[in-house]
Amino acid sequence: MKRPAAKIVIAKNTGFCKGVKRAVQIAERTLAENPGRNVYSLGPVIHNPEAMRKLSGLGLKVAKSVAGIPEGSILILPSHGTPESVITVAAGKRLKLVDVTCPHVASVKRICRDLCARGRKVVIIGEAEHAEIKALKDSAPGCIIIENEEQVPEGLFTSGKIGIISQTTQSKDRFLGIVGVILKKNPLVKEVDICNTVCRDSAGRQEEAKKLAAQVELMLVIGSATSANTRRLAEIGASVNGNTHLVEKPAGNLADKVKGTRSIGVISGASTPSWLIEEVIGCIKENA
Ligand code: SF4
Repeated sequence: MKRPAAKIVIAKNTGFCKGVKRAVQIAERTLAENPGRNVYSLGPVIHNPEAMRKLSGLGLKVAKSVAGIPEGSILILPSHGTPESVITVAAGKRLKLVDVTCPHVASVKRICRDLCARGRKVVIIGEAEHAEIKALKDSAPGCIIIENEEQVPEGLFTSGKIGIISQTTQSKDRFLGIVGVILKKNPLVKEVDICNTVCRDSAGRQEEAKKLAAQVELMLVIGSATSANTRRLAEIGASVNGNTHLVEKPAGNLADKVKGTRSIGVISGASTPSWLIEEVIGCIKENA
């Protein structure tokens, strides 16, 4: 007898978030309007290799640094932000800059500058090596980056004023947990500004991932391991359902993973294109 088909529950929050959608649209438009001209991006425009492959197919060249970009080129600055010092170097070269920084990331940069202007020592809760944090760091000279509770320094802010912000794709619970530890280990801090700068889209996906993972036998998070918000969704899913996996594309052992499974939850990171999600769902349907 044929087994009943697996129940596939697709999260409401899948595909590009607004910031990524806007960045990709501007990049595509820039390429279409400038045939034959050198169009570069500084690192990936968004953190998804499949989507970047598509932009490369339209003519985009990806540079690691401003130094390697020929004068007269167009330079797209990525969605996750660019350090001010790099923008200054790029502006000093004969390049046409197209800044596709997500408006939310741009607003967090402004918050950093504002906190500094008001004499706060800025504490950023996030991944030190992530491109967004490197961009934010430049807007808050002397800031401290904290990735986890173990890294919280004791008695560092003895008499000062501090401002705490978050990487936009951080888990809200983790952010608030680390804020609590900072305050506990530094009781002499006089004034604290706590700015929850986790973006609404990330927070919504995280909530949905948590709920969905608890309802299904297998939870799949579609997106790239290079994307911080995708990794966060996989972590959150795994915290409630050990059978949670990050899926980059409809390849590898995806067919084996879904075989024989009765219920499958699907969510995607904010930089995963919808065509890729459709391909993965197609593969799930064929093999589950
Ligand atoms: S996840 Fe949030 S901060 Fe990041 S690009 Fe999307 S809207 Fe902007």
